[in-house]
Amino acid sequence: MRVIGVIGYKNSGKTKLIEDIISNWDKKIAVIKHTIDDIDLKGKDSYRFRDAGAKISIISSDKETVFFLNKLNLDEILGILMGYDIDFVIIEGFKDELKKLNIPKIVLLKNGDDKLIDEQTAYVIKGDYNIDEVIKIIEEKAIIPSMNLNCGHCGYNCETFVKALCKNEVKWDQCVLSNGIKIIVDNKIIPTVPFVSKIIGRSLIAMLECLKGVNKPKHVKIIIDTKKLKNI
Ligand code: SF4
Repeated sequence: MRVIGVIGYKNSGKTKLIEDIISNWDKKIAVIKHTIDDIDLKGKDSYRFRDAGAKISIISSDKETVFFLNKLNLDEILGILMGYDIDFVIIEGFKDELKKLNIPKIVLLKNGDDKLIDEQTAYVIKGDYNIDEVIKIIEEKAIIPSMNLNCGHCGYNCETFVKALCKNEVKWDQCVLSNGIKIIVDNKIIPTVPFVSKIIGRSLIAMLECLKGVNKPKHVKIIIDTKKLKNI
């Protein structure tokens, strides 16, 4: 799962751009949108369940299912999405979190105001855009979320790696986290260096392949409830 941000001032066309990306790209895409407005669902049944103390409330119809959770930080939301079969996550807004987590971004400029552009800007859109070109940029610049592991295996730290990526000096898959192992603890992605990834990945696959019904698994997800584990 790779991520990229889209930022711009109000009415700069962020949502339209993301709609265009989704409808013109044959990939499994998730979108995370930040809003400063209240999510006005007061009075709806699912909100009442939440107000009554439900940790998660889910409303499901014949067409769709909607989850309601308490506020989460961007890294926690990304941790949840890691459990899904998704190719790319596009994040609308979250300007400060993108910077903090070193996630490159596309900036939409309005009236030539360039205050949003910084060294982690992968692409700038001023007015009309070519959607194929935007998609190509995402393919080249979206990263595996590194959560400031700063392991140094790419020859940079996570911040300078993204800056170098935006300057075309490195490719996204030079980050060690493109190795296919994701460890999520309490909804947070815990990056692992190659040595640890290799030990965990190979050991687990070897053990799982001994189990009845497991034959060359493609994706493996293991959930450990540490409280229950103590009782075993
Ligand atoms: S290899 Fe990845 S996780 Fe490690 S410092 Fe570079 S960008 Fe960060």
